[in-house]
Amino acid sequence: MLWGDKPYNSLNYSLKNKFGTKIAKISIDGGFTCPNRDGTKSFGGCIFCSSKGSGDFAESRIMPIREQIEKGKEQTAKKWKNAKYIAYFQSYTNTYSSVSDLRKKYYEAINCDDICGIAIATRPDCLPEDVLELLSEINEKTYLWVELGFQTANEETAKFINRGYTNDIFEKAIKELKNRNIEVVVHTILGLPNESHEDMINTVKYVTSFPIDGIKLQLLHVLRDSRLYSYYINKGFHILSQEEYTDIIIEAIENIPENVVIHRLTGDGNRENLIEPLWSLDKRGTLNLIHKKMRKNNSFQGKKLKKM
Ligand code: SF4
Repeated sequence: MLWGDKPYNSLNYSLKNKFGTKIAKISIDGGFTCPNRDGTKSFGGCIFCSSKGSGDFAESRIMPIREQIEKGKEQTAKKWKNAKYIAYFQSYTNTYSSVSDLRKKYYEAINCDDICGIAIATRPDCLPEDVLELLSEINEKTYLWVELGFQTANEETAKFINRGYTNDIFEKAIKELKNRNIEVVVHTILGLPNESHEDMINTVKYVTSFPIDGIKLQLLHVLRDSRLYSYYINKGFHILSQEEYTDIIIEAIENIPENVVIHRLTGDGNRENLIEPLWSLDKRGTLNLIHKKMRKNNSFQGKKLKKM
């Protein structure tokens, strides 16, 4: 195996290899909002987004960042001894503020004990020049990746989910970040309404045609407090079964170049908020099924890209 015990380049494996110890992420709510929710782009937000700005597992935004990190460390210390941490700015759009506010918050995180890096989730249309320069500065100080919420390469679906920007904005953001030597992780969603198996694989092929460093493959969750829930109740759409999802995921993995780190293969739905698919609550079972099917078919990351 190229990547320890898994047939793909997992985040766990990649970080352990880089830092020589277990690295855990601590999700932080930096107290930001989002231009797709505050009226700058729209008021509705992306159709799938929860009321917590897709940061359902982040610490409370009323706590100072240092406290959020200490609390996160206490919780993970029960599971892993001697771990180091990545401070993950997850909720809402984490480059959407003044540069002075962003600088203060990023530095507060990286100056905490045992923090060995920082991850910043944002929108590709929220990276003005002064923010890019700040990210470049942070990149010199610590390990950094910037996570771009992209979801789909299908522009029709992008309009439907109210993503609020076109694919060329995404392409420009990647160029700007890579010009500054910043690692880029792209967030995709599998199972969006009216998308075919082919659409989902096309999204994976499209995002990996750029020099990205990591990818998140997220199963679509219908959350009670999202606009997608009303659509699901009123119009309905196909919810992927576990069998369908695991088949799509394996084909996606086989189309991802070996150097791209896979940050996620399913997703964590908040039990109280999750409407569908309920099978996804069994994350371990889903991962086991993916691994079992991959073993059976001698499948591995990048298989479809190899010249046989
Ligand atoms: S960009 Fe992120 S925070 Fe904003 S509405 Fe979309 S998913 Fe939610």
